[in-house]
Amino acid sequence: MSSRHTLPTDSQRARPPGAWAAVARWFDSQAGAEGPAAGMAPGDVPAAGLSDADRIDWARAVPFVLLHLGCFAVLWVGVSPVAVAVALLMYALRMFALTGFYHRYFSHRTFRTSRAAQFVFAVLGASCAQRGPLWWAAHHRHHHRHADTERDLHAPSRVGFWRSHMGWFLTSRAFATDLKRVPDLRGYAELRWLDRYDVAVPAALGALLYGLGALLARVAPQLGTDGPQMLVWGFFISTVVLFHATVTINSLAHRYGRRRYDTRDDSRNNAWLALLTFGEGWHNNHHFYPGSARQGFRAHEIDITWYGLRLLAACGLIWDLKPVPAWVLAKAKE
Ligand SMILES: [Zn+2]
Ligand SMILES: [Zn+2]
Repeated sequence: MSSRHTLPTDSQRARPPGAWAAVARWFDSQAGAEGPAAGMAPGDVPAAGLSDADRIDWARAVPFVLLHLGCFAVLWVGVSPVAVAVALLMYALRMFALTGFYHRYFSHRTFRTSRAAQFVFAVLGASCAQRGPLWWAAHHRHHHRHADTERDLHAPSRVGFWRSHMGWFLTSRAFATDLKRVPDLRGYAELRWLDRYDVAVPAALGALLYGLGALLARVAPQLGTDGPQMLVWGFFISTVVLFHATVTINSLAHRYGRRRYDTRDDSRNNAWLALLTFGEGWHNNHHFYPGSARQGFRAHEIDITWYGLRLLAACGLIWDLKPVPAWVLAKAKE
């Protein structure tokens, strides 16, 4: 058998875990993995046909299913204006964290910041329940490298709508983090911890929201909320809507919209998706030039994340926001 220091082959890494390992990985995403390369994903393996590694691993996916089922608890906990307001606020804050930090900072390094702020950004991103910062950035870099080819795990033209929207990341191939793709990030122990124990921050957020609801029930009973209601609206519903909005960029923004640039992929600019995802819908712009902190390249292209990043820069929390170069603007077809 392989020693601890032998790198597993790609096919070994992609093999689905046993049922027990799958359950353990709900809490420790590297449980049952061996050796220094534990948790590395076979991102480079051409997806020729549907192998075991490309099937949905339902045992591992239970937390994702429960997240959706939790929304139905609204039938028991009811609704109040304050619970809906908190759900909207949690959506907005976390959409900004995803696009500003997980995407434009960790995946593309389009601005700089301090190590302390980087950690806070990673925690905010992790609260979205879309895995850890290293996993997210590694998969996203892989997407840019292979967008809409047979190696892209979520190319809608190749795998269809549902798989590009959500099926892809429920497979054994996609569950692990490919540390080879994040050499600039993997040296930070705090980021590796968040990546390994990716359920910790979402669980803490759920507990906080429950506590907020319970507190309001005590000090402001006229608001009509309580712990369970705040948990369902602020965490479950908000997180599920946030998730499905995020992944429209994989499933819809590679299908519907305009192509300002002749990129090698099928990416589109879509104003509706840009509103929903705080600027990510300018996806054709972004695929043509991913190195800019701004994705709405023109003044009328609403890019809420860009406005937020400028605000953070004005406060001195981030700096060196990379602009859109003039040659990029000059290459636009329309
Ligand atoms: Zn894309
Ligand atoms: Zn990107």
